[in-house]
Amino acid sequence: MKKLHIRKGDTVQVAKGKDAGKRGKVLKVDPVKKRIVVEGINRAKKHMRPSQANPQGGVVDWELWMDASNVMLVCSGCERPTRINRQRSGGKSFTRICKRCEREF
Ligand SMILES: [Zn+2]
Repeated sequence: MKKLHIRKGDTVQVAKGKDAGKRGKVLKVDPVKKRIVVEGINRAKKHMRPSQANPQGGVVDWELWMDASNVMLVCSGCERPTRINRQRSGGKSFTRICKRCEREF
């Protein structure tokens, strides 16, 4: 199985769509479907009827899954959207190297 280069807790910048240019923290990763959930990005609103869980009803919003190919990983070293080099670091895990500042992150 091909591993997604994005991990939970990473910062990413949106490259496409209505949230293009925005940054957020990765909350969830689905490596099989190659989808991610990013804090504050791709939010959807829904009008809810009052229920036991939500007695007030009203509008709730939350982040939707989005395609991982729509974002750029932001390097924690140089804080710029970047591409990465992958280096095998024993076993099945990879070390990610920023192509801009060549820092490992
Ligand atoms: Zn960097």
